[in-house]
Amino acid sequence: MTVTLHPQTAPAPVNADTLVVEKTPLERYVAPEKPSLVGLSRAALGEALAGIDVPPAQIRMRVQQLWHWLYVRGAQSFDQMTSVSKELRSTLDRHFTLARPEVVAEQISVDGTRKWLLRLPSQDPGERPHEVECVYIPEADRGTLCLSSQVGCTLNCSFCHTGTQRLVRNLVAGEIVGQVMIARDRLGDWTGVERARGDGLPTEGDRLVSNIVMMGMGEPLYNFEAVRDALLVAQDGDGLGISRRRITLSTSGVVPMIPRAGEEIGVMLAVSLHAVRDELRNELVPLNRRYPIEELLEACRNYPGVSNARRITFEYVMLKGVNDSIADAKALVRLLKGIPAKINLIPFNPWPGTRYECSDWEQIEKFSQVVFDAGYASPVRTPRGRDILAACGQLKSATEKLSARERLALRAMAMTD
Ligand code: SAH
Ligand code: SF4
Repeated sequence: MTVTLHPQTAPAPVNADTLVVEKTPLERYVAPEKPSLVGLSRAALGEALAGIDVPPAQIRMRVQQLWHWLYVRGAQSFDQMTSVSKELRSTLDRHFTLARPEVVAEQISVDGTRKWLLRLPSQDPGERPHEVECVYIPEADRGTLCLSSQVGCTLNCSFCHTGTQRLVRNLVAGEIVGQVMIARDRLGDWTGVERARGDGLPTEGDRLVSNIVMMGMGEPLYNFEAVRDALLVAQDGDGLGISRRRITLSTSGVVPMIPRAGEEIGVMLAVSLHAVRDELRNELVPLNRRYPIEELLEACRNYPGVSNARRITFEYVMLKGVNDSIADAKALVRLLKGIPAKINLIPFNPWPGTRYECSDWEQIEKFSQVVFDAGYASPVRTPRGRDILAACGQLKSATEKLSARERLALRAMAMTD
């Protein structure tokens, strides 16, 4: 499954005089003169080393060393890699970097929630760089990182601001892993580095970043390979070490990719359901026209590894007068019968120009009571980081609907253990 790239990126310009094909900025980023090693699989790292003439007999050991420095120690320069010979360090430095995406803004809430605005290279000369956000939500016993998989989204869900953005591009695996690296850099969450302290940061557990939710910008199953590669790097027990049970991938329902997500990534699944009838879901999540509710639920029933201990989370955004009646609540619990499920009710986060409103609190409570009576535990949680969300306008419009995702991320934390 691919995503349409911005049309202007298509052909690389050809210099007629010399007939040299020049690289676009994106191509240079993906295959730059000096690429970053962040996000490469072990195999790709081995190839990179072979490419700079590291002897074949040494490659395995060198990959091990680099992996450790990158993903356990969080090295930001080759100089830090004291177990690697000086000569190899300088060869590595000539050919590669350890660069992460650039952090252009950081906001820290009084409750410890942190938000980073990240700048990614644009595809076209003259085009503004792309921006995505990454959010860290700490609790006493865990810290959850909400990651983006695309700049924008092609799916146009009618209540989602990201879907209104014209500019869309997939993040490469390094940009997804890079978000984890940045969070650990900013929090000092590396072995041998002093941990950040402060109000709201986890006090239990040995990691500040212990969980991941793919609930930021974009549809992760429309960027499958990069998301898979990145999440496999994140899961590696000798590296970033975030177990697949602590990683949740949220999808709007890309049915054909759901089995692959289970088989090839093995993470927890969250599904953006939002409606119990196809007619309404077609309007809210237009992808439903291609993969209607019954097919989506069938894919959930068959999700590899699903069980009462590993439930699927169904996200349900509360839209006033649209999907929030008691009849809808009853239909929802009927629909999910027999699927090991959790339900997260998400207060709608309005944005300029939207035709929807958030359901009244009373209605959310009534709805949630029906869900609760059917055996699903406390589905609505209090949002966090409100003070920095209030300052959200200081960040770029591309990320205006962050508070919704943040709420989701909060809820997801309850189920990723
Ligand atoms: N594309 C994926 C993951 C990113 S969106 C997906 O759709 O699942 C993460 C969640 O935020 C989804 O459940 C989405 O439906 C929800 N969301 C989007 N816009 C929202 C809004 N304005 N208010 C509340 N939730 C919203
Ligand atoms: Fe894309 Fe998810 Fe927004 Fe739908 S809700 S437009 S799939 S990011």
